[in-house]
Amino acid sequence: VAACGGIAVLLVAVGVWLSWRPESEANDEFVAAIRNGEFIPYYQPVMDIETNRLRGCEVLMRWRRPNGMIVSPGQFMAYAENNGHIFDMTRHMMRVSVDEVGELYGENPDLKLSINLFAGHFLDREIVADIKSIFGKSAISFQQIVVEVTERHPLEDMDLARKIIAELQALGVRVALDDVGTGHGGMAYLQKLGVDIIKIDKMFIDTIGSDDNSTTIVDSMVELADNLGMGIIAEGVELEEQIERLLELGVTAAQGYHFAQPMPAEDFIAFAERTEKE
Ligand code: C2E
Ligand code: CA
Ligand code: CA
Ligand code: CA
Repeated sequence: VAACGGIAVLLVAVGVWLSWRPESEANDEFVAAIRNGEFIPYYQPVMDIETNRLRGCEVLMRWRRPNGMIVSPGQFMAYAENNGHIFDMTRHMMRVSVDEVGELYGENPDLKLSINLFAGHFLDREIVADIKSIFGKSAISFQQIVVEVTERHPLEDMDLARKIIAELQALGVRVALDDVGTGHGGMAYLQKLGVDIIKIDKMFIDTIGSDDNSTTIVDSMVELADNLGMGIIAEGVELEEQIERLLELGVTAAQGYHFAQPMPAEDFIAFAERTEKE
């Protein structure tokens, strides 16, 4: 409890630190943190719940302060997005992933690597160029990459977003719609964007089994995904019962604290080696 309290106080302190500073000063320090490589990837395993084998991971950004404190995206992502820093940070994240897990991915061609993109990435073809240049000559192939588009922020230019998605798919990259059912897009996004995978939000997973409505919603998502030929990943799986329900509903890919939290590369590589041996 004391440790949690300490973390909460530190998190609030970072939030306050970002907000009370004169704007330009806070921004200079944020830019310096980017340049110092303080924003790093953590990796959360995505499991095949039928076989208990590793399918891959989702790359989740963390701010590692010089004092070693690890800050979650809830504390800085909105700032990074609103001030246009997210583009450099995403490039950095992808490059570091190649350095850190490239070898693991080269040796295990079935593993997938999910990268989170921001709605602003779909207003500009630069993301296609970045993915080509960063992964093109790397040990991680385009076929191993999944980009996640969130439904939480509106996509301002649907036609351009559709084109960018098609260009990524032409390379072999797959596209997942994240946070389905929580945001703006709904069915229209699924139909218009031509995504390959839908991710079911933790909100619906939390209550499957105990709440008939959630079960029905997840059931409809699975049916829809099947009809549209899309894959499905459940997120926020914390309990054994949830896995059982998901298997009954026909979902085979999941991530969540039940399996593992997001972790540094070294730990993820050890996790991968452990699961492959079992
Ligand atoms: P998201 O993409 O929906 O990522 C899933 C979030 O759920 C992660 O939070 C993950 O740590 C958390 N999570 C996974 N399993 C469980 C579980 O079983 N229980 C609970 N309580 N939580 C679980 P995180 O890492 O704090 O990231 C929050 C959000 O920040 C992400 O939500 C994503 O929208 C954004 N984000 C993270 N990294 C990046 C990034 O590199 N780029 C962009 N654009 N956004 C990012
Ligand atoms: Ca995501
Ligand atoms: Ca999500
Ligand atoms: Ca979520």
